[in-house]
Amino acid sequence: MLIPCLACESRFGPDEYFNACSDYNRGLDLVSWTCPHCGNRDDLRVLPGELGFGYPCRGRFDVHDRVRVPGLRRQRGELRLDISLERSSWRVHTRLRQPA
Ligand SMILES: [Zn+2]
Repeated sequence: MLIPCLACESRFGPDEYFNACSDYNRGLDLVSWTCPHCGNRDDLRVLPGELGFGYPCRGRFDVHDRVRVPGLRRQRGELRLDISLERSSWRVHTRLRQPA
């Protein structure tokens, strides 16, 4: 199973792909992803069996494109998102923002 970058179309194994996730936004249910190849930054939503790509719109996130990842699972935590696929798992933390 290889997951493509939607910008440069490089394809990554799950380990490389999910290790490039950072900063779980619990409010919008998004993780940031930075392509290890082209450096493109995307926001995506991890869903059961798929990844959702789209755009923030009026305080929500509308999914427009979906990439099927059979067996993908997710669990939301207080300040993190746990992603698992087959026998691997990855944890994406929420970056804490200091009040100005
Ligand atoms: Zn890329």
